[in-house]
Amino acid sequence: MLFAAKWGKQVMSRPRKWRNVCSLPEIIRFGPLDSQINNNNSVNMTVDEYETIRLIDLEGYTQEECARQMDVARTTVQGIYSEARKKVAQLLVKGTVLKIEGGDYKLCDGFAKSCGGVCRRHRHGRGNRR
Ligand SMILES: [Zn+2]
Repeated sequence: MLFAAKWGKQVMSRPRKWRNVCSLPEIIRFGPLDSQINNNNSVNMTVDEYETIRLIDLEGYTQEECARQMDVARTTVQGIYSEARKKVAQLLVKGTVLKIEGGDYKLCDGFAKSCGGVCRRHRHGRGNRR
């Protein structure tokens, strides 16, 4: 898997700062239902951009909390988040097809120091079961 390979590289030389991502998107393609989909005009959102939307807009995290969980500086989160918002706006306003893939991220195994196991508890806890 791609993220595993990237993670391996980081351990050796730390060439880049990988962003900790606790949850991968289940749906990775979005587009308008009531108009012709123009695939030539698609926008790519990275998985780390998706994660800022998930944490800040859905989970109600502050940018500080989001930065801590993703193990990056707050200014970095600010940049990622504003890019992500711009892409969501394009989807909503212009009906642009949006794909989520790629990015400088490593998938959290639930034991990352930055996340403190929040996502692991969530997955195994109240999570999906009712
Ligand atoms: Zn996590």
